[in-house]
Amino acid sequence: MSEVHSETREYTIPEGCPVCEADLPVRVTATGPNAVCRHCGWMGRPFITVTHQGLRVSYGSAAA
Ligand SMILES: [Zn+2]
Repeated sequence: MSEVHSETREYTIPEGCPVCEADLPVRVTATGPNAVCRHCGWMGRPFITVTHQGLRVSYGSAAA
């Protein structure tokens, strides 16, 4: 009887940080994905796309 609308998922992108290439922990909330590198403090919103090669991660800071 308990629906959870604010589900939070966390995962780690191996070498996902564009700055220091450390493992990048990503937290997906209702507002979207948020990534904060524990190594260098980089923050961003990664976009994860599933391709035939696996997961593809891109970082959009602005509309491209
Ligand atoms: Zn980093």
